[in-house]
Amino acid sequence: MKIHEYQAKQLFARYGVAVPEGRVATTVDAAVAAFRELKSPLAVVKAQIHAGGRGKAGGVKLVKSEEECRAAAESILGKQLVTHQTGPGGQLVRTLWVEKGSSIAKEYYLGIALDREARRPVVMMSSEGGMDIEEVAAKHPDKIVKCAFSPTKGLQVFEAQKLVRGVRLAPGLEPQAVPLLIALAKLYVELDCSIAEINPLIVTKENRVMALDGKINFDGNALFRHSDLLALRDLHEEDEKEIDPDCGDDPDLEP
Ligand code: ADP
Ligand code: MG
Repeated sequence: MKIHEYQAKQLFARYGVAVPEGRVATTVDAAVAAFRELKSPLAVVKAQIHAGGRGKAGGVKLVKSEEECRAAAESILGKQLVTHQTGPGGQLVRTLWVEKGSSIAKEYYLGIALDREARRPVVMMSSEGGMDIEEVAAKHPDKIVKCAFSPTKGLQVFEAQKLVRGVRLAPGLEPQAVPLLIALAKLYVELDCSIAEINPLIVTKENRVMALDGKINFDGNALFRHSDLLALRDLHEEDEKEIDPDCGDDPDLEP
């Protein structure tokens, strides 16, 4: 089962993964009100659909005024957004997430998936943030650092250190990055995720480490253990032909 970016970020925040402050909006007026409430000189209006690649498709817009926010919300809300991850018909944008804009110094990739061969979750990190991990794996396989970890013990400090040092994160940022990786690993295990991904994980010009995007897929077979998470399901995003009342298994992970 997939969820939206804003829902993933709410779960991140619960586990202590730093995220920008934001608001959900389902109307243009609500998006403008959100911009006003955030009191930030820069905000970002983001289409909420169960697909990535929104930035390149015009579904993520930086805005600096109420007028710009209104124009961005009008251009995204109610539109069929076509990204390289949607079908050719795109996905209808019913919800926006308006969040504070960050000044980005560097973007990284951070993701956790299940390594079926090792039968353990594996954390992957790369200095090539913003790019799909499949593309990084194809073009710069040397730039991906991996670490499988024990789901019972959780990701250990030395393992998280090995990852952040592997992508050459500045040592001064380790006190933020190491607990963030450990928190994401804890979320992954406790909530029975099949994928938990932050792309990009950023370092801001003020030297803060935070999640600018969020993708979480849950293992459908474990959802009976998480009745609260079922409330996050958005049937509008699921193909009618594929809707499984039990949430099924995760098609992403089929061989
Ligand atoms: P997608 O992966 O679907 O394209 P992202 O959430 O990753 O969507 O956003 C695309 C890009 O937009 C990011 O890589 C980042 O450069 C920029 N961006 C997203 N959110 C913010 C933000 N809060 N502040 C500044 N830039 C942002
Ligand atoms: Mg992204």
